[in-house]
Amino acid sequence: MVIVAGVFDNVAASYDTMNDFMSLGIHRLWKPLRPLHQPRPLYLHHNLPSAGWTMLDIAGGTGDIAFRLLDHATHINNSPASTMTISDINASMLAEGRKRSLATSYANSPRVSWLVANAEKLDTIPSNSIDLYTVAFGIRNFTNKDVALREAYRVLKPGGVFACLEFSGVKNPLLDAVYKRWSFGAIPLIGQLVAGDRESYQYLVESIEQFPKQEEFRDMIKEAGFVVPGKGWEDLTFGVAAIHKGVKP
Ligand code: SAM
Repeated sequence: MVIVAGVFDNVAASYDTMNDFMSLGIHRLWKPLRPLHQPRPLYLHHNLPSAGWTMLDIAGGTGDIAFRLLDHATHINNSPASTMTISDINASMLAEGRKRSLATSYANSPRVSWLVANAEKLDTIPSNSIDLYTVAFGIRNFTNKDVALREAYRVLKPGGVFACLEFSGVKNPLLDAVYKRWSFGAIPLIGQLVAGDRESYQYLVESIEQFPKQEEFRDMIKEAGFVVPGKGWEDLTFGVAAIHKGVKP
């Protein structure tokens, strides 16, 4: 945990640059959640309660995903009452998020709250209180992923949705070889040259490699009590990343 905190302290300000390197820039395509192709983004398939959704973005860091979800709730789903708690274990990442929020329509908005918390212990969030729990590029860093999944299950209302965007497994062996060569060979070196920090970037590459692949992670979500729709996930860019979903019955 100390290592993880240090890594994100180090990368907080250069966070977008880091994601560009890690994903070859493709994360910029993943995060808009394809609103052009779907009436709702991938996270928001389910019907909104009329009072708006109570949303929780875990490992929310810079607020990137959270602001997009709020925008979507407001403009596409006509739900200006939806609220968002942006939570992260790392105060530096949240500080960066707060700073960025000042340039959005959510600057000092009562619809947004900020919470420093470990995803494995969300003490201040009541059980059965959340409609949508999102975690993007965060869960692979958690020490006890099973504990975090059970905590997600606890805080969600029955019918509430767990949605996770994370690096995953490339099925095509040729593409996988190219991607691995890029991540293990070039990224730590670029981290050293651009950010003067080889170790943090090496950690990030290894955390992606060690994270469970699509089927295994789907089974962990089921193990926590969720029902998974369809096969349980959607691959993005040949499986470089995937969106997993679960619904609390
Ligand atoms: N979700 C954001 C995004 O997509 O831009 C930020 C993702 S960043 C790669 C990973 C985040 O996970 C960091 O902000 C880090 O502090 C946070 N994190 C790591 N371990 C955590 C934990 N146990 N609980 C909550 N957040 C955690």
